[in-house]
Amino acid sequence: MTAHTHVTELPYAPSCPECTRFKAGEEKARYDRDPSKEVDYRVLARRHLRNVHGVAVAG
Ligand SMILES: [Zn+2]
Repeated sequence: MTAHTHVTELPYAPSCPECTRFKAGEEKARYDRDPSKEVDYRVLARRHLRNVHGVAVAG
């Protein structure tokens, strides 16, 4: 169990350009300490993961 973050990594597909973009955006928002933007990216990413990759992510 690691304690470095409270944020669960979403199951991004490494080979998917959109996943890469969402992951980068989420990480940048976190780095910029912009939680609302981070949440926006995660909402979009979860929708993308469900619709495109068929992966349902809780939360
Ligand atoms: Zn993707």
